[in-house]
Amino acid sequence: MSRLAVVFGGSRGIGRAVSQLLAQRGHRIVLLSRNKEGAQATAQSLPGENHLGLSCDVSKEEEVQKAFETINKTCGTVAFLVNAAGINRDALLLRSKSEDMLSVLHTNLLGSMLTCKAAVRNMLSHGGAVVNIGSVVGVKGNAGQCVYSASKAGLEGFTRSLAKEVASRNIRVNLVAPGLIHTDMTAGLEEAAAVRTIPLGRFGEPAEVAQAVLFLLESPYITGQILLVDGGLQLLM
Ligand code: NAP
Repeated sequence: MSRLAVVFGGSRGIGRAVSQLLAQRGHRIVLLSRNKEGAQATAQSLPGENHLGLSCDVSKEEEVQKAFETINKTCGTVAFLVNAAGINRDALLLRSKSEDMLSVLHTNLLGSMLTCKAAVRNMLSHGGAVVNIGSVVGVKGNAGQCVYSASKAGLEGFTRSLAKEVASRNIRVNLVAPGLIHTDMTAGLEEAAAVRTIPLGRFGEPAEVAQAVLFLLESPYITGQILLVDGGLQLLM
């Protein structure tokens, strides 16, 4: 059955791969990012018709509310939500600027809370599924990523708690925690050194994370789970 899927951060990287896979499965996609042209271009590139690309900064409540008003008016009720909008501002805590700390927390953590709040309202009568994108760094911690790690660890607590709040409405909430994935976010890393810490010996691809997201969206008896998609990285961290 074709459902309406909303993917925040869907213009690039992991969110784009999720959008592609969901569109291949016949779902209608609304994907959002700050850059409107980027969102629209990705929406147009998806298989199938009627996909939509919108501009929205997830860290701003007004923009999230407006986006859901547009989605509901033009496309109907949301069944799937994927929160893949995220940023990093990696630095040791002593060198982190408070405006960067706030940007990371507001985008990665508050942003997902705001989109979940709006989407869950949509799902109350017919059920639905949410997948938040966390990180292996949220599970394990990493020097130089205190704030990013806190934003992702916060998402885990949020995911488990919201799963408990909305289970009686047949709304499931899970989290995928990727390791090192080939996207713009990791483009600056020294790959040769980084792969030595990964048991499977390579970075993951966005499509490999998308597979796990699809699995959780479509698995009717899984909720409140944290699924690592990291080539075994967490085993050595
Ligand atoms: P990416 O390629 O940089 O893509 C990030 C996406 O988020 C883009 O579509 C970007 O579009 C959007 N975005 C950023 N800030 C936003 C905001 N305030 N409001 C709305 N959209 C926003 O990064 P990625 O690697 O795919 O990351 C996706 C998620 O996976 C993030 O949460 C990241 O933390 C997580 N993750 C990534 C890795 C990895 O190795 N790549 C590992 C673990 C976890 P605009 O710039 O146009 O807004």
